[in-house]
Amino acid sequence: MSPGTLDKYEPVIGLEVHVQLATRTKIFCACPTGFGAPPNTNVCPVCLGLPGALPVLNRRVVEMAVQGALALNCQVRGESIFARKNYFYPDLPKGYQISQYDRPLAEHGHVDILLDDGGSKRIGVTRVHLEDDAGKSMHEGFRDSDRYTYVDLNRTGTPLIEIVSEPDIRSSSEAYAYLTELKLLMQFCGVSTCDMEKGHLRCDANVSVRLRGAEKFGTKAEVKNLNSFRFLKQALDYEIVRQVELIESGGRVVQETRLYNPAVGETFSMRSKEHAHDYRYFPEPDLLPLRIAPGWRAEIEAAMPELPPAKRARFISGFGLRPYDADVLTQTREMSEYFERAANASGDPRGAANWVMGDLAAALKADGKELADSPVSAEQLGELVALIAKGGISGKLAKEIFPKMWSTGESAAVIVEREGLRQISDTGAIEKIIAEVIAANPKQVDQYRGGKTAVIGFLVGQVMKASRGQANPQLVNDLMKKALG
Ligand SMILES: [Zn+2]
Repeated sequence: MSPGTLDKYEPVIGLEVHVQLATRTKIFCACPTGFGAPPNTNVCPVCLGLPGALPVLNRRVVEMAVQGALALNCQVRGESIFARKNYFYPDLPKGYQISQYDRPLAEHGHVDILLDDGGSKRIGVTRVHLEDDAGKSMHEGFRDSDRYTYVDLNRTGTPLIEIVSEPDIRSSSEAYAYLTELKLLMQFCGVSTCDMEKGHLRCDANVSVRLRGAEKFGTKAEVKNLNSFRFLKQALDYEIVRQVELIESGGRVVQETRLYNPAVGETFSMRSKEHAHDYRYFPEPDLLPLRIAPGWRAEIEAAMPELPPAKRARFISGFGLRPYDADVLTQTREMSEYFERAANASGDPRGAANWVMGDLAAALKADGKELADSPVSAEQLGELVALIAKGGISGKLAKEIFPKMWSTGESAAVIVEREGLRQISDTGAIEKIIAEVIAANPKQVDQYRGGKTAVIGFLVGQVMKASRGQANPQLVNDLMKKALG
């Protein structure tokens, strides 16, 4: 298919994202949520759905869910209702999932994403609701896996929020940017680790295409199993082309659920509309309506950290950072806080930004360390930057001092003092070296005086060499010109 044909169509995408909340215990019982326990050990009558067991809502789950919803600029309802979503599946022992239906926790939010061209776009968030997770079916890895499927119910009852977007997304890269920002917001408030490998962030997409300029949406397919950022992008690109090709060849898109197979890079039909579930939602009789009083809501809101959009704006206006740098430095809460401490200690925020994104990031990567384990503290890095800014050491020397700080944990000042590395800005001392260099290089001096002024670079280099790189280069340059007349 030609790119021109593809360009005639506009993709319309909405994402449904499940985020596992980072509570220690499950949503309706006190079982631990930890990952990696032996199968079926973190279970009790409540999460196993045994007769007579009653759910008790975990207060911390509500607090985290409200924080997540507020981070997405949602309106939190004063009262929301739990509902049973009924279906049969071996990893769902209750025979229903406890979710929320017509009165979800929060609605009417949005996420602003940064576009490739530097602009931004607002993606609507339809709703955020609470639900419990199902267990896991294990189809592989046992000697009789050809005949049996095993079930691990440890995950049953783990708290989730489902975040449903408006169909505002128009390309796979916008979807990627939306999910990236959403993940960042959840991580910043500490609501979830969003570790995709552990299934803490899972994504399904509703995809349709329509001719550009058309108002009516095309028929959508739901694509499941988009469990990495790369797969999300690949699956959407595949699905968009598939639907356009289908329409261009006279066919029509059918409403269905499709699965993405990363091994072949294609989506395939899982079930058609005729086999779609009727979940027979009804209000959960074992749980009271969830009421969030204004006072409690205010308490939860007060505990929210400053979020990336506000931080970025402040880094740009207050510290004079470029938007790109502000974006990089707010990739994690730890990095943004480290940078801010370094910037404040340095008196040169842009210099601090360059060091955090440059030498520090490279050293962390080389040693496979997290920022929390950095041997150079934010204050120490800020001090190094301050030394450069105030002319105490040259930028070149700082590049040599930093690895020593990294390996010893010592401050820049201690290393500079011990190794006698302080930049020489003493005019008398520099003039003395210049006189020696001029005396030792009469040929170059003659050349300079004869009009070959470029040779000054060589003479300055000799002074820098003689001072072991410690002389203030600008000062050397000025004094050399003066000495040569
Ligand atoms: Zn339990």
